[in-house]
Amino acid sequence: MILVSACLIGLDCKYKGGNNLTPKILELMKTEDLVPVCAEQLGGFSTPRPPAEIKIVDGKRKVFNINGEDVTEGFEKGAKNILDLCLKLGIKKAILKSGSPSCGYGKVGDGTFTGTKTEGNGILTQMLLDNGIEVISSDDFVE
Ligand code: SF4
Repeated sequence: MILVSACLIGLDCKYKGGNNLTPKILELMKTEDLVPVCAEQLGGFSTPRPPAEIKIVDGKRKVFNINGEDVTEGFEKGAKNILDLCLKLGIKKAILKSGSPSCGYGKVGDGTFTGTKTEGNGILTQMLLDNGIEVISSDDFVE
């Protein structure tokens, strides 16, 4: 059983609406049980919603949307809901959408909303890694 970012298999949950359908990941459905989730929708955010990026404030990782609102609580709630699901179902592996403030692995937006990336993981990705769940970024999977 593999957790996947729901947008990667065609669910319309992206912040601006639409999805990130990635045929190679959709193909996996033929051989694996995929569990699609969207951390931001599970955190209570609607679709579409304002884009958000991670910033370090007083040494803590926070998430702000482009309007300057602190949305950290919702991001953490969505990630926690998914972690609980992984623990219940015994999921040990996830393929998550590169670059997202929830699902990104290795690189995320730098908080300036300019498309500039910085080293780091999304809120969900970090929570899964901290709990021993393997995360593969969608870019790495496709390569
Ligand atoms: S939170 Fe993850 S699953 Fe949801 S739209 Fe963003 S990248 Fe896709």
